Amino acid sequence: MNDKYGRKIDYLRISVTDRCNLRCVYCMPEEGISLMNHKNILRYEEIIKISSLAYELGFRKFRITGGEPLARKGLTELIKSISCLGNDIDLALTTNGTLLTKYVHELKDAGLKRLNISLDTLDREKFQQITRFDLFQQVIEGINLALEVAFDPIKINVVVVKGINDDEILDFVELTREKKLWVRFIELMPFSRNNWSEKRFVSADEIRAIIENQYKLIEIKRSYSGSPSYDYSVDGHKGKIGFIASLSHKFCDQCNRLRLTADGRLLPCLHSDGEIDIKTPLRSGGTDDEIKAVLHKAMLAKPQGHRLCENGLKITNRNMSKVGG
Ligand code: SAM
Ligand code: SF4
Repeated sequence: MNDKYGRKIDYLRISVTDRCNLRCVYCMPEEGISLMNHKNILRYEEIIKISSLAYELGFRKFRITGGEPLARKGLTELIKSISCLGNDIDLALTTNGTLLTKYVHELKDAGLKRLNISLDTLDREKFQQITRFDLFQQVIEGINLALEVAFDPIKINVVVVKGINDDEILDFVELTREKKLWVRFIELMPFSRNNWSEKRFVSADEIRAIIENQYKLIEIKRSYSGSPSYDYSVDGHKGKIGFIASLSHKFCDQCNRLRLTADGRLLPCLHSDGEIDIKTPLRSGGTDDEIKAVLHKAMLAKPQGHRLCENGLKITNRNMSKVGG
């Protein structure tokens, strides 16, 4: 399916829950957020139905996210069902890693190919400051087990925040020397109630300059045009690094995705308030063609680009854990 601007849309990011067992300072307030009513959350069979219709429309990349997706019971069953939709499915999971040791083997057996683990610091105390929970060791054990089980690639998402973890940029590069990890530095984005401020923002160009002072980076040809990340290998390292410059270099012209929220809305863009209800037609007995028409409508509603940086920062009503990061 192509959208109005000629972009091929073939990537569905599925949020399975807005709940999370952490409270990262840039994502959620300490007291948490008002949660979706349980009966509004899509059931797994509903998510599978939407995914299979999306597959028929040509979607091939699927990502499970949240909130914390592993906090929802039975997730590996959903992963198994989606990975069985076709041999050409590219299925990935984004997780905070705190529950990985429990599920990593099940996930591999269920057909999960790719894993993104969020980790913003290599220091246990700082982890507690950022996430407000003392679960650093669990995440490290989860990453090590995922390496043993041979997920490839394993990407580590690092949101860089000035004054909090920008002093650890080189430590994360060093992590890729012996470990086959793909560390991606992400620019801090503004969301509802995350206290975004320019003072806390570090651009991808600044991060790269810090790294290039010490390391020789070799650009990697982009694996597909929709990737938001600019990636590099580091001379002599087993792993790789990448930069996601969502604010400073927007990549909207290559955007290939729709988002499905846990409460059954399609979001044409991460940074706009437009939402299209797919749950109501699904629950009121809509035919496959009717549901496909809703997916099509969401795709046609994709804006040409986000307007976050125009006339001051425009912030959407949902925060990242509700949008599905
Ligand atoms: N809980 C899971 C996790 O943390 O990996 C999945 C959901 S989380 C919302 C997905 C990704 O969004 C994480 O890598 C997180 O670091 C990122 N994220 C959350 N808030 C962000 C923000 N304000 N700016 C940039 N990235 C953000
Ligand atoms: Fe939870 Fe992920 Fe948000 Fe952190 S970034 S609070 S782990 S949803």
